[in-house]
Amino acid sequence: MKETDLTGHHALVTGATRGIGLAIAQAMVEGGARVVGTGTGPNPSEGFAALLEGAPDSEYRQLDARTADAEAFVATLPASIDIVVNNAGINSIAEVHDIDLDTYDELHAIDLRAPIALCRALVPRLREHGWGRVANIASIWASITKPGRAMYTASKFGLVGFTKTLAVENARYGILANAVSPGFTLTELTRSTLSESEITELAEVVPAKRFAETEEIARLVCYVCSPLNSYLTGQNLTIDGGFTCV
Ligand code: NAP
Repeated sequence: MKETDLTGHHALVTGATRGIGLAIAQAMVEGGARVVGTGTGPNPSEGFAALLEGAPDSEYRQLDARTADAEAFVATLPASIDIVVNNAGINSIAEVHDIDLDTYDELHAIDLRAPIALCRALVPRLREHGWGRVANIASIWASITKPGRAMYTASKFGLVGFTKTLAVENARYGILANAVSPGFTLTELTRSTLSESEITELAEVVPAKRFAETEEIARLVCYVCSPLNSYLTGQNLTIDGGFTCV
């Protein structure tokens, strides 16, 4: 299958060490883009290192959203960055009365504050380019919820709201911003929050009868971040095998 053409573009993908972020970085490289991928460690993960072997123009940067100064981080990025994918995210399950506020602060710092801080620092550059694409990775839990998801839904609903405002402020400058909201996708995050039996049970209630592969999410992200997308902005694109329709 042909990848979306991203030749000549330069993407920042946060949380590119594994899971959905690594698949996005891979698909973007295959589409012809250069990628700056981030992770919390000083060195690239095995998966991102393998990507770099075939993509010498791409690079790895350390970025821990809990502690990073987004302005300072962005100042070190190549001026040519014109695609921003805020993918890094964590989940934490607790009913409202059991929420630990320090845990919430940490989740909020990664899932919502960091995307806002990075966009705040990068939007002036995208405006200078007169072209830019932003994809913020939200979740089905940015439009529905279930018990225990309060911290995550608060951040992901917030991310969708932020994306809509970013879109309406910047469409006139050639900058299109969308949220991409995966359903159940097989990654470490999924395995850390769901047991094997929950994964089997949940797959049964997904109309597609399976979880998503990371590559399926990556393809949609590549489309919204490509020149092929010329008018889609401010949307929350749910990609969930039909789960939220049931
Ligand atoms: P994952 O496999 O757990 O990977 C998370 C990524 O985020 C890693 O690259 C990780 O880097 C990075 N990260 C973690 N803590 C960070 C921090 N403090 N600062 C900066 N980066 C940090 O996650 P995933 O399942 O691929 O999820 C990716 C995105 O999709 C998240 O926003 C998630 O909410 C969303 N999502 C996932 C699913 C799903 O079913 N998996 C469904 C809906 C939405 P390190 O390797 O360095 O820790």
